Amino acid sequence: MRRIGLGLGLATVMATGFAAAPLAAQAEESDAAAVHERLLTLDTHLDTPLHLMRPGWDIAERHDYVTDNSQVDIPRMIEGGLDGGFFVIWTAQGELTAEGYANAAATAAIRQQMILAMIAANSDTAERALTADDAARIAATGRRVIYQAIENSYPLGEDIGTLQRFYDNGVRMVGPVHTGTNQFSDSSTDDERWGGLSPLGRELIAEMNRLGIIPDASHASDAAFDQMVELSATPIILSHTGPNALNEHPRNISDERIRRLAETGGVIAVNSIYLAPRSNSPEWQALSSRFMELFSESRETQEAFVRNLRALEAVTPREDADFEMFMASLMHLIEVAGVDHVAFGADWDGGGGVEGMRDVTALPQITARLLAAGHDEEDLAKMWSGNVLRLLRAAEAHAASHGG
Ligand SMILES: [Zn+2]
Repeated sequence: MRRIGLGLGLATVMATGFAAAPLAAQAEESDAAAVHERLLTLDTHLDTPLHLMRPGWDIAERHDYVTDNSQVDIPRMIEGGLDGGFFVIWTAQGELTAEGYANAAATAAIRQQMILAMIAANSDTAERALTADDAARIAATGRRVIYQAIENSYPLGEDIGTLQRFYDNGVRMVGPVHTGTNQFSDSSTDDERWGGLSPLGRELIAEMNRLGIIPDASHASDAAFDQMVELSATPIILSHTGPNALNEHPRNISDERIRRLAETGGVIAVNSIYLAPRSNSPEWQALSSRFMELFSESRETQEAFVRNLRALEAVTPREDADFEMFMASLMHLIEVAGVDHVAFGADWDGGGGVEGMRDVTALPQITARLLAAGHDEEDLAKMWSGNVLRLLRAAEAHAASHGG
């Protein structure tokens, strides 16, 4: 529905007596599209590297969410006016053993190499971003801005010195933990073992500060979040998290903590999952256990998995959430944290997306709604990239003055 062209000639409009209101609405819509196009836009958590692992999947091609299940590729980023974001090196949590660490380290290294290979193969349309200043410079060339982040520091094992190599290759945002408590931190969705961060987890935050990396507390327990806010020398981010106020869930966060984050200069990027109760029916569990079919060598097997996924969603939505609920969550964050502390991290390709906003081509409608709600372009510029880049600048400055 975006970008309704002013296709009807004015004469036609006047002749049919079809006057002011529709024209005004059309003008408003095209203004919003122009504003969105002008903005530098970044998403703080893109799980798109998962699709890079799918045989035959090419980010340079346009895919369809319904049949392919992906939500981000270069053609759709261009269509949705998304200049770039933090491409995630995610690793599933495994055993806290030497063997588990070694396997995870290998997987994470492969994921990072695939991101770098993707950038190299698309050098005319994408470029690796390392510094906060890179974003505007790269976007001005028309290329997509590719930052890198780590979701789950489990692959670092018990030697935080291994973070240096990921940093050298481009990682600028790191979350200690994912869905399972690990050697660094308690997870928001697992048993408490450390009462927040472990001693090693505290060292990891210091190492992020030393290198110039933004600490990311999404998935960390509330106590770990509190300690990260306290310990980090520079403001932290919640790269894909929503408010408890609209849906109480361990992955969401209280207004009190959102205010504390804002007071310390931090940023919360609005998620598009956990907006509503989540189904964990036997059917969903069964389908989830077949997730690896999406990575099959056989295109038919990949497509059959997505067909089964869509069929199950039609009967039992994973979450019964729509664009209105996403906007309500965003508006709540803006009200509690303020426009200087909100960003966008919808968990695209990681389970994100809601009815009415299924892939990144839908992003201009967020800008349109924020403009209609009275926010100006300056507010939007902060939320769409300025705030996360401010955190990266702070991380860079600290590292530069403390021997990173
Ligand atoms: Zn996540």
